[in-house]
Amino acid sequence: MEPIVLDKFGTKLFVNDDSGIADNSLLHFYQISGEAIGFHTCGADFLMYAHSETHNVMVCENCHFGMIIPNSIDTYGQLRQWCLEEIERQKKIEVAISALCFRLDEEKRKKF
Ligand SMILES: [Zn+2]
Repeated sequence: MEPIVLDKFGTKLFVNDDSGIADNSLLHFYQISGEAIGFHTCGADFLMYAHSETHNVMVCENCHFGMIIPNSIDTYGQLRQWCLEEIERQKKIEVAISALCFRLDEEKRKKF
């Protein structure tokens, strides 16, 4: 399975080829069994825990990188898709904020 890109920094979740895990595999199976859902670039296991009523958290055992994801994400494929959409959404927000700051600067300049 292709690694799942988790964020805009290129953080990845890797899965061993011989694990039999595919995009339609259930993330919750690995969560309930207490097994790692995969591993991080640093080589250590990614574990998943319940974070709140609505979200789970994925944590790397070694470097403690953590990412909060909705607990409605059931499969590896859904995680892959959610991360892609989230990265795009964050890019749009950053562009919108930049545009807004630019406009505010222009307004300030007009006043003085
Ligand atoms: Zn790590």
